[in-house]
Parts: sequence; structure tokens; C-alpha cells
Amino acid sequence: MKVACIRRHISSGSAFIGTGAVVLTDVSDYALMVGNPAKQKGWMCACGIQLVFKGNRAKCMACKRKYKKIGPEKIVEEHKKGAEVVPL
Ligand SMILES: [Zn+2]
Repeated sequence: MKVACIRRHISSGSAFIGTGAVVLTDVSDYALMVGNPAKQKGWMCACGIQLVFKGNRAKCMACKRKYKKIGPEKIVEEHKKGAEVVPL
């Protein structure tokens, strides 16, 4: 699948917005947003590769960064300084 993306910085993090997408709401870090109005279609690594989650975790095939889901609309990079710690 070929996806053209424009990377934009939103608030403190980064999100990936599909070409032509109209974003009306706040966008989570690493979220892939597509459409009008934009809907979240997945998650993107900071390097621009789409992440595939297995359970609550994903590993980027390109740069090997690891990510963890901490909620339905939020993921964090693991081993990143300042990453949120969620009690189990
Ligand atoms: Zn990556």
C-alpha cells in the first residue's frame, strides 16, 4: 500500500497526517490520521513506518524502536526518557 504522508508537529509530539486529511480534533502522538474529517487509521513510528501492534506492543521493522499502547488512543515509545509509567 502506498501512502503519502505529511509529517507535522502537533503540540509536543508528532503525528502523521494523510494527504488531504482534515483534522478537526486533537491528535495523539504517532497517530496516523486519514480522511475528511480525519480518522485514526493506525500508528506510525517516529521514522515514518507504520506500526503493527501485536497485543499492546509494536516494534518498528525499520529502526527497531519499540512502542507500547497505554490506552485506546495513546502509545509511548519504550525506553524513552520521560515516557509515562502506567501502574499495572
Ligand atoms: Zn521506525
